[in-house]
Amino acid sequence: MESRRERGIDFQKLAKYSKHAPRYTSYPTAVEFKPLKPEEIIPHLKGDKPLSLYFHLPFCRSACYFCGCNVVYTSKESKRRRYIDYLRKELDIWSRYLDTSRVVRQLHFGGGTPTFFTPEELEEVYQLIYSHFPNWEEGAEISIEIDPRFFSREHMEVLKKYGVNRISFGVQDFDPKTQRAVNRIQPFDLTREAVEIARESGVIESINIDLIYGLPYQTLESFKKTLQLVKELDPDRVAVFNYAHVPWLKKGMRKIDETTLPSPEEKLKIFKYTIDFFENNGYLMIGMDHFAKPEDELFKAIEKGELHRNFQGYTTKGGADLIGFGLTSISETDRAYFQNYKNLKEYESAIDRGELPVFRGVILNGEDLLRKYIIMEMMANFAFDIKRFEERFGVNFREKFKQELEELKEFEEGELIEILDDKIIVNKTGTLLIRNIVLPFDEYYRKMGNKKVFSKSV
Ligand code: SF4
Repeated sequence: MESRRERGIDFQKLAKYSKHAPRYTSYPTAVEFKPLKPEEIIPHLKGDKPLSLYFHLPFCRSACYFCGCNVVYTSKESKRRRYIDYLRKELDIWSRYLDTSRVVRQLHFGGGTPTFFTPEELEEVYQLIYSHFPNWEEGAEISIEIDPRFFSREHMEVLKKYGVNRISFGVQDFDPKTQRAVNRIQPFDLTREAVEIARESGVIESINIDLIYGLPYQTLESFKKTLQLVKELDPDRVAVFNYAHVPWLKKGMRKIDETTLPSPEEKLKIFKYTIDFFENNGYLMIGMDHFAKPEDELFKAIEKGELHRNFQGYTTKGGADLIGFGLTSISETDRAYFQNYKNLKEYESAIDRGELPVFRGVILNGEDLLRKYIIMEMMANFAFDIKRFEERFGVNFREKFKQELEELKEFEEGELIEILDDKIIVNKTGTLLIRNIVLPFDEYYRKMGNKKVFSKSV
């Protein structure tokens, strides 16, 4: 692992490998999800592993043009009220098929803007959850995504009361011109106040800030100022995402004037500077886009090779069945992925019929399981233990994946990975190309080719 970190990043190499590739929050990816009947997933709810619960709270007042999330835009209180009522009914339906006495290891609220719900409404949602799931693991990770524009001390009181210990603040960029161009006005003072409220509560173990590079009017100079301001906030983790401009998939992105987007060269300069900035300020780079202080558990987990990846990104808490509630939520168990309806009407109709509001997904076959294991290990820990894999699956790795190993030679010759007798190790430049490096193991991508359904890897 150390050798990966000691080397600098060779940016010259990056552009050459860039192509459209999945982000691998799942394998098979969501593109492979097919219509599924709720009864097909019921056998997959019978495990006894701990649970990781995800709640999607989809409402936002207005659209940020870069947004790739599943959002319902509204300012109506009645919609939130109705949504909570349906969440209650949905929880009741899941409880028929899922043993809710299983221990809960993680709870995450995403959106949308979860704190667009009033403190009283959020309290109601937490109560619903705790009344359905009575058993919680000691040290369970309870997290929420917060938009500082919709966050008050009263919200924090509720979060404290219900055990929230991790907060992720959406920032993206502090430059006013960029903020105007993406329709998200969020002054620095407002964000600072939100971070202070969280810190003063005394219960938040980790504060994360999300940034995006590649937004309109961003330049190296403008982003330097954003980074300085982020430093003032002193977060435990920072995620710096590469803006994926996919206007053919996301209507809101069509409002962005493409001529104002930074060039690939400028983006590379911004990202290179960002890496140096955080490393010079006591953070360590984790994966393609995360930075963490050495005392943060994300960093400790990668040192031990125990980082995991799921739909919310990197996590230190693996080994759980993920169950998603609410509109569009995705669940993941050992052998299946399944997703709730994306359309509010269809979601509500399924619940009114007394059915799980699941409409599509994929049941993994034996081949998928092998490939999922390899891809997820490499995506999360940037190393792959061949021996451990062979012991676990009883498969001779070199024989089974002869062709894939052949394809990996390109990366070995490019000094992005090392293929040892018992391990594949990805070096620091390689971590930025990890989506490309795991591609040979993706059987579905092989059939599909370099298609535009995915964003560019670099
Ligand atoms: S970025 Fe966040 S606040 Fe903006 S539209 Fe998307 S989910 Fe809503």
